[in-house]
Amino acid sequence: MHRLRVPALVPEMSVPPAELHHLRVLRLRPGAELRVFDGQGGEASATLLRLDEGGALLSLGEHLTNVRETPQPVTLAVALLKGDKLSDVVRAATELGAARFQLLQTRYADVQDIGEQKLTRLRRVAAEASKQSRRAVTPEVLAPLPLAELRLAGQGFAAHPGSQARLTEALHWASPVTLVSGPEGGFSEAEIEALTRAGFLGITLGPRILRAETAPLALLGAIAATGV
Ligand code: SAH
Repeated sequence: MHRLRVPALVPEMSVPPAELHHLRVLRLRPGAELRVFDGQGGEASATLLRLDEGGALLSLGEHLTNVRETPQPVTLAVALLKGDKLSDVVRAATELGAARFQLLQTRYADVQDIGEQKLTRLRRVAAEASKQSRRAVTPEVLAPLPLAELRLAGQGFAAHPGSQARLTEALHWASPVTLVSGPEGGFSEAEIEALTRAGFLGITLGPRILRAETAPLALLGAIAATGV
């Protein structure tokens, strides 16, 4: 089934230019059945009414319940990383079900800020990965925030070597989840204290030291392996 991203689920809609090429390559005929999704969790079946040089028109069918999201949204709060590593993290973490990314400025990071262009690129990576993994939600990528300003709503877990608690034992799905992962240089003592004061629980990812781009995927992988 072909899935198209549309700005909103309305009874009749023209296909956005970005998706038109895709439809033409598929050589779909009027009457073809498709799926449409809005990137905010809405998904529906749709029928192709018209496809010509002028564009394409769809008519909306029944709304589908989304079965691909975790029981509560999971935010990945991840320290800024060098080069293109954040793209790899955003891509894989989107496949693994992250609903939101909060970029973090931390003391021992090699990078202290990120340009508007890079942020736009990360958002595009999230959109592509969510489509590829057949999710109906495109994760938001929020501009960097100093770690001290990170507030917790729901349950929060901070990956920190030497912690005792385990994510899959401490996590329950009664409220939204925030996972925090540090930079290559790790968190400072003061940062760990601030996270603890804010309500985050330190958790282990095993006795090995993972790279900063591996740790977020281990966190989300542990959740994915529970089958949610
Ligand atoms: N230089 C730091 C390690 C940083 S690893 C040190 O020696 O302590 C980068 C980030 O990955 C850490 O901040 C943490 O969030 C996460 N991480 C890596 N390995 C981990 C582990 N075994 N348990 C929990 N978190 C880990």
